[in-house]
Amino acid sequence: MKIANLKGRLVVVVAEGQAVDVERASSGKFSPDVMSVYPQWNEFAAWAKTLDASQAAPFVETDLDSPVPAPRQIFAIGMNYAKHAAEGGFPVPEEPTIFTKFQSCITGPFAEVPIPVDGKNDWETELVAVIGKEARNVKAANAFDYIAGYTMGQDISERVTQGKGPAPQFSFAKSFEGYGPTGPVLVTLDEFADPNDIELGCTVNGDVRQSDSSSDLVFSVPQLVEYLSARLTLYPGDIIFTGTPSGVGLGRKPQVYLNVGEELVTWGKGIGEMRNKIVAAK
Ligand code: ZN
Repeated sequence: MKIANLKGRLVVVVAEGQAVDVERASSGKFSPDVMSVYPQWNEFAAWAKTLDASQAAPFVETDLDSPVPAPRQIFAIGMNYAKHAAEGGFPVPEEPTIFTKFQSCITGPFAEVPIPVDGKNDWETELVAVIGKEARNVKAANAFDYIAGYTMGQDISERVTQGKGPAPQFSFAKSFEGYGPTGPVLVTLDEFADPNDIELGCTVNGDVRQSDSSSDLVFSVPQLVEYLSARLTLYPGDIIFTGTPSGVGLGRKPQVYLNVGEELVTWGKGIGEMRNKIVAAK
């Protein structure tokens, strides 16, 4: 199943460009607010299986907003692909490296991304796992039961701010307005042949900058759920940016960053494509 946020209303995408409005199709049993569905995920997923696809209406892809616009908690994982750790000059970590992106940076899959033009604004393509059930002390073997599905994310990062100060400021430098495009849809795990092997990548103005698979994650999605939930509670609608593969601008020789006017296209196999235009921050 694929769900999406169409102009602020929860929909089930039943075919390319065709979606069913959940609130109407369920006669009000489920709210149009996409965030409200995650705490009732299993009930919702069971209902969605009975959905009559003939109620679908056409939609325009660029009207989609983030499928998780207001997560209670956002976790992001640093250096979670070996080649990305190496390009940053770091060893492969022995434990996950965790930071947050503040909720206000979350934006849609086709939104403009405003960048400060005096910054070094970088892309980080990431698979994003969305929690569908409260999780505490969950073992990796059972972790997929706690995931509603996957979407794609860009962990856009301003490298000057990130490196400023006596200790790195990951969370702030990765949370400027619009620095968290997510989408275009949320896809349940049963749609993937192997939920530990999702191909992903990005292009900037058509030039391939990243291309890899989540099978190369140092800490897999189930391992991240185990690690995090051993220390804190994961709530429905929380999201995990699982880390970026190699190919970021910071790791290139010479370094290259996003420029105003460019289009950043982020893709995940079986999830779809986000297209974000880079504009100047006001
Ligand atoms: Zn990242």
